[in-house]
Amino acid sequence: MKLIILGSGGCEAIPRPLCHCRNCEKSRDKGIPYTRTGPSLFLEDEAILFDTPEETRIQIEREKIQSIKHVFYTHWHPDHTQGLRIFEQIQSVYPEEQKPDPIKVYIPENAYEEFMDRLPALKYFEMMGFISIVKTNDRLPIAFGPIIITPIDFKRADRTRYGYLIEEKNKKVFYAPCSIFDWKVDGYYNNLDLLIMEKGWDGKTQLRETLPKNHYWHDHASFEENILEIEKLQPKKVIITHIDGSRHKTIDGDHDLLIKEVEKNPNLNIDVAFDGMKIEI
Ligand SMILES: [Zn+2]
Ligand SMILES: [Zn+2]
Repeated sequence: MKLIILGSGGCEAIPRPLCHCRNCEKSRDKGIPYTRTGPSLFLEDEAILFDTPEETRIQIEREKIQSIKHVFYTHWHPDHTQGLRIFEQIQSVYPEEQKPDPIKVYIPENAYEEFMDRLPALKYFEMMGFISIVKTNDRLPIAFGPIIITPIDFKRADRTRYGYLIEEKNKKVFYAPCSIFDWKVDGYYNNLDLLIMEKGWDGKTQLRETLPKNHYWHDHASFEENILEIEKLQPKKVIITHIDGSRHKTIDGDHDLLIKEVEKNPNLNIDVAFDGMKIEI
């Protein structure tokens, strides 16, 4: 299967608007891989998109993508959804009789109400015939030709977050770009050829306990936790993504430094995502 990391950034992509810190200016000067757009993955084989961050339209143009048939969402958060006007832009064509088939949009059933509440434009796009919404269920696979996609609920007590297992023949890729803290791992995470996971925040994991309950580090794993998780799951390869610019004034998001960071664990075979990264499994 052929995958493209359309966006490797996190909630705050790099450069941040109006920011003139050293890292933001470096990314403006040098572009990719230092520039990052919001988190998104494209599976070329069956024209399947995972999430629509606000730069979706630009990402699709940049990679010269020719078709989008299906869109899966990991969760409703704005950094994963605010490019959803792409549906209107692709589908709103004249004359009426040339209107393409609706793009299928897959939303976990246990998050459906939350999605409709937070993203009412989806209802409008469905009414206009731009999309058709398909409710999915945890760990129930959906086949697209030779590709099988299984939605995986992280089964966290206080929030609904999903990852996706993508399989073709004997190849297994797991996409878990965001909010994986405290996920409940089971057999679906075994024997992965590739795990694409959120990079996680830097700093000592114990720091989380000292933070207020609504701090976003309660939603995200730390990089330390991720290393332990990788050691436990033993995927053949790992790509870290959702590289956040929220600490852009420090060096956390710098591509060169991240490469050096992951090279400290050569046995774990970790690579650092960048926008436009192509993967063949
Ligand atoms: Zn900055
Ligand atoms: Zn996110």
